[in-house]
Amino acid sequence: MKKKLIIGNWKMHLNTHDASVLVHRLHITIPVHRSVEVVLAPSMLSLQPLSLEIDRRQFKLAAQNAYYKDEGAFTGEVSYDMLRDLVHYAIVGHSERRIYFNETLEVVREKTAAAVRNGIVPIVCVGDTSQERSEGESKRVVHDQVTTAVQNLTSEDISNIVIAYEPVWAITTFDGVVAKPSDIQDMLAYIRSIILDLYGAQAAEDMLLLNGGSVNPDTAAGYFSLPDCDGAIVGGASLNYKSFAAIVAAAYQVQHENPDNGGQ
Ligand code: PEP
Repeated sequence: MKKKLIIGNWKMHLNTHDASVLVHRLHITIPVHRSVEVVLAPSMLSLQPLSLEIDRRQFKLAAQNAYYKDEGAFTGEVSYDMLRDLVHYAIVGHSERRIYFNETLEVVREKTAAAVRNGIVPIVCVGDTSQERSEGESKRVVHDQVTTAVQNLTSEDISNIVIAYEPVWAITTFDGVVAKPSDIQDMLAYIRSIILDLYGAQAAEDMLLLNGGSVNPDTAAGYFSLPDCDGAIVGGASLNYKSFAAIVAAAYQVQHENPDNGGQ
């Protein structure tokens, strides 16, 4: 029975007060669904207060980033070890971190391993830029990103990671091109085939694969109905409680229509 996973990535938006107001609205608007897991990724500063405010049956928390060493003289950094009691998930390798903060394939690999080591599920983001796409390089780029990220993981570890395909050209704050569901399905199936080659059929079948980039209440159901799409990372639309609730409702609707996916 496979759940759908919906992540709200709030990025560098909302101070602790506004984050708390949004969580209050989401509590009222989003019902608990057994078959849909809803995860909120607020700023680092809001994780602690929100961890005391959220109903954990309704929402789980994710960090947007952390450093891969467990402790040490790394001024300004927070480790996965420090986050382990606060969050279930951590976004790793988001394109904004790769592009604006120069995170290399190797840094993403270290962060993925550090999250797993500390009992946090990494949501490893991979994705091609519009230039890579126009040069026909999309699959090579995604292949390199996926294989490097999982390089140090055992077959046991692999059951504790999630991979999100977020084409950079589809992210609202980059190009914001709405991806065709067929493009997303093609790449998600490709990612599953990489995991199958590396870790076997069961690992590939069990892995949750998400879509990200311009997911909104109008586009969500089209993605959630795809055979290889197990949910989404939602950026801009997650800051509006009505939009985010509508996206979660779309996930529930798709699950409900396909009881094999864990609906009801
Ligand atoms: C993101 O950046 O993770 C994202 C999904 O952004 P948006 O939904 O705003 O395109």
